[in-house]
Amino acid sequence: MKKLTLKFGGTSVGTIEQIRKVANIVKKRHDDGNQIIVIVSAMAGATNKLMSNSKSISKNFDSKELDVLISSGEQVSSSLLSGALIDLGIKARSWQGWQIPILTDDNYNSSKILNIKTDEILKFISDRGVAVISGFQGISEKSRITTLGRGGSDLSAVAIAKFFETDACEIYTDVEGILTTDPNIDKNAKKIDKISYEEMLEMASLGAKVMQPSAVQASMIDNIPIHVRSTFLEKSGTKIISESEIDHKKVVTGIAYSKNNAKVSIIGVIDKPGVAADVFEPIGKNNVNIDMVIQNTSLDGKTANITFTIKQGDLNKTLSIIEKNKNKINYNKITHNDKLAKVSIIGAGMIASPGVTYKMFRSLANENINILAISTSEIKISVLIQEELTQKAVKILHKTFELN
Ligand code: ADP
Ligand code: ASP
Ligand code: MG
Repeated sequence: MKKLTLKFGGTSVGTIEQIRKVANIVKKRHDDGNQIIVIVSAMAGATNKLMSNSKSISKNFDSKELDVLISSGEQVSSSLLSGALIDLGIKARSWQGWQIPILTDDNYNSSKILNIKTDEILKFISDRGVAVISGFQGISEKSRITTLGRGGSDLSAVAIAKFFETDACEIYTDVEGILTTDPNIDKNAKKIDKISYEEMLEMASLGAKVMQPSAVQASMIDNIPIHVRSTFLEKSGTKIISESEIDHKKVVTGIAYSKNNAKVSIIGVIDKPGVAADVFEPIGKNNVNIDMVIQNTSLDGKTANITFTIKQGDLNKTLSIIEKNKNKINYNKITHNDKLAKVSIIGAGMIASPGVTYKMFRSLANENINILAISTSEIKISVLIQEELTQKAVKILHKTFELN
C-alpha cells in the first residue's frame, strides 16, 4: 500500500465528462489499495474569467479580495470531483485550504506555504477515504485567504507530497508529459522520459507553462520526484528527478520561449562606476524585474549605452521611472521596443559539449533571424528576437539540436 499525491490540472477537470474521467482514474488507483490525496485546479478557464471580472471592477483591484475571488474556482472543482467519487461508491471529501489549514505567508497573489496540518486528513485516508484538496489556495496567519501564484496548484501538490510524506507526486495534465518544446508551436515535440530539477526549473522559468516554476523549485529543494503524465492516455510520462540519476545523451533537452518581452536602451550615459546601479536601483525598488542586460561603451570611452529587457506590461512604468530620475541618470535619449520574444535552449548536456553557442547562432542566422540580446548560464542559452519570429526560431532550434 502506498500513499499518493495525485494532482489534476484545469485542463483535466474542464468539463463534467472530464471530471468523471478523473474520478475513474482516482477510483482505479484507490482500488489498487493506495491511500490517495487528490489536488485539483479550477475548471479550465475559470480562474481567467474571475481575473477578468476583477479587472472590470477596477484596474487596481484589492490584492486580498482578489485572492478570495480567484481561489473560488478550486472550491467548485473539488466539490464536483468529491461528488463524482461518492457517486462511484467511494468515501470522499473535499477540503479548502483554510479548512486544513494550509498556512501561508501574507504575500497575497503569490504566497509561500509555511505549514500544513496533516492529522485529520491522514486519519481520513487511513480509513479508506479519498481526500480532495483545492489547489492554489491557503490561509494567512491573519486568517485571510491567499493564493500561490498562477499555476499554483502544482506548488500545492509538491507541498502536500512533502508534508504528508507521500510515496509519489503525480501531476496529471493534458499532454503526455514534459515535451521537448510547446506542442502548440512545434508538432514535432517529443516526450522527455527523464529531466533534472535544474533543467525543468530553467524550462519552466523560461516559459514552458506545463509546470509552475515555484513548484519545480520546491521539489528541487526537498528532493521530491515528480511524475508529469497524461489524464487522457494511459502511459508513463516524464520523471522530474535529480541530475545524478540522468544520463544525458543529448546536448539540448528542450526549447522554451516567452513572448511579451520589451527592450529599453538608455543611450549616452556617462561611463563611470555606479551608473548601472543608478539606473537599476529605482526600477528594482518599483518591483520591475530586469531580465537581460547589455552595456556597451562608445569609442571615446566616455559614454555608454545600457540596454535591458523587462516584461511588456512593465514598459510604461519603467520609462516613466527613468524619466523621473533623469537628473541622476543623465543620458542622451531612450529607445524601446515592445514586441520581442526570448527563445532558449536548455540542457545539462551543454556543460560537456563545446560549440553549442555557435550552432545555435548559426542556425538562427541561416533563417535570417536577428539576435538582439543574449544571456547564458551553464545549462541554457537565451536569445532575444522579434516576437513574430518565435515559431520559426523554436522550430529551427528543435531541428538543429536533433529533438525532432
Ligand atoms: P494544467 O491545466 O494541467 O495545469 P497547463 O495548461 O498549465 O496544464 O500546462 C500544460 C500545457 O503546457 C500543455 O497543454 C502545453 O500546451 C503547454 N506546454 C508548454 N510548453 C510545454 C512543454 N515543453 N511540454 C509540455 N507542455 C508544454
Ligand atoms: N486555477 C489556478 C490558475 O489558473 C491554479 C492552477 O491552475 O494551477 O492559475
Ligand atoms: Mg498548470
